[in-house]
Amino acid sequence: MNISNNLQKIKADITNKIKLVAVSKTKPNNYILEAYNAGHRIFGENKVQELVKKYEELPKDIEWHFIGHLQTNKVKFIAPFVRLIHAVDSLKLLVEINKEAEKNNRIISCLLQLRIAKEETKFGLTESDLLLLLESNKIKSLKNISFAGLMGMATFTEDETLIAMEFQKLNNTFKHVKKTYFAENEDFKELSMGMSDDYKIAIEKGSTIIRVGSSIFGHR
Ligand SMILES: *Cc1c(COP(=O)(O)O)cnc(C)c1O
Repeated sequence: MNISNNLQKIKADITNKIKLVAVSKTKPNNYILEAYNAGHRIFGENKVQELVKKYEELPKDIEWHFIGHLQTNKVKFIAPFVRLIHAVDSLKLLVEINKEAEKNNRIISCLLQLRIAKEETKFGLTESDLLLLLESNKIKSLKNISFAGLMGMATFTEDETLIAMEFQKLNNTFKHVKKTYFAENEDFKELSMGMSDDYKIAIEKGSTIIRVGSSIFGHR
């Protein structure tokens, strides 16, 4: 396996308008450094403890994205440095991120996670919960949060038609939310969808950020 070749191959597939998050969860620092030395700077992790350790040990110009389910009581550990939180799925979590961002004198960018997959999963907002959240007055008071867009994960399946439909649904919701709630907000522009097995479909459906792990670093 050659990490820099893998990266190059994926970058050749995508335009430079699309952000590539190299998902390095469970992989050791030397793998990350290989990508870093090939010029890559955006990495994604899904466990707080692992992310903090890697942040401390690795070069400080890495842009760290948190892509997993974030527990409220762990926000404080990543608030000083995280660049984008991909999977925010409750008002309670937003309030906590805002509080910790304020303490750190920062604005933290967040994506709201929409549940698009057929699978029974606990994570992500349903469309109606998302709209309810956006209607609540409380979110206007979250001055230390930048709403940067939406995120979603398709069903784990070989059925590419289903995957395409789910990404299309996420894009439709994104357009509706943009027009209705963030028309004046230039930060609200990202659609994080697509992983190793489905990023090509995601890009066809309008993804702006893909999160790719195993195609870069090998299987976990
Ligand atoms: C692990 C993970 C990825 C990367 O998955 P691969 O199939 O290895 O590319 C992307 N997004 C999230 C939320 C993940 O947890």
